[in-house]
Amino acid sequence: MAMWNPWRGCKKCSEGCLHCYIHKGDVKRNINTNDIVKTKDFYKPMEKLKDGSYKMKAGMIYLCFSTDFLIEEADMWRRECWYMIRERQDCIFLFLTKRIERFMDCVPDDWDDGYDNVIVCCTIENQKNADKKLSVFQTLPIKHKCITVQPLLERVDLKKYLEDIELVVVGGESDYYARPLDYEWVLDIRDQCVQKNISFEFRQCGTHFIKDGKLYKLQKKDLCRQARLANIDFTAIPL
Ligand code: SF4
Repeated sequence: MAMWNPWRGCKKCSEGCLHCYIHKGDVKRNINTNDIVKTKDFYKPMEKLKDGSYKMKAGMIYLCFSTDFLIEEADMWRRECWYMIRERQDCIFLFLTKRIERFMDCVPDDWDDGYDNVIVCCTIENQKNADKKLSVFQTLPIKHKCITVQPLLERVDLKKYLEDIELVVVGGESDYYARPLDYEWVLDIRDQCVQKNISFEFRQCGTHFIKDGKLYKLQKKDLCRQARLANIDFTAIPL
């Protein structure tokens, strides 16, 4: 999995951030996550080998997985990133954001109806943020849109926001104090996706997982495996 983190650090901005793994990891390393700083990898997509080929190979690039691509503190750096994204047409750049309301203030002048090689995942965790953020997301000119519902904190109705969505990913929270994930909520979102023929993926269980009304405590190492074992992913049928 190719990653590109041009900067690091992030600030908590919604209910889903409570047990953010970036913040937890930084506490152990004595790093202040609230400091947003450029990394040595800022120009990674442009770096070349001696033979003139790019070091970063063609394919899917996961962008800003230790920060938020749309965070305000990076506004002066993002223009250069867009330039590199435009240059690397052989790569698909995917980023998640909890700051979708900032999107139109962050796009480059030539964005128009979006770049072909950019996938934007809007992240929400409850009905309040679904209504607030996805109502904005659905109006945005983006060629490839996904929704990530993680950590899923309650039953969420996404139906009116699924138009033009390529994939919905759902997951629970991983933490000693994790808020519980009820499997019924997961199945409910899956049903909404199947009804609208939208691809769906159950990415991970929660540490505290409720199934048939019974609460289970799962090990971190088992969270993704248990979600896979549920075998409920759905691939949209080409129409
Ligand atoms: S937006 Fe994402 S990376 Fe930033 S604090 Fe929240 S969960 Fe962590």
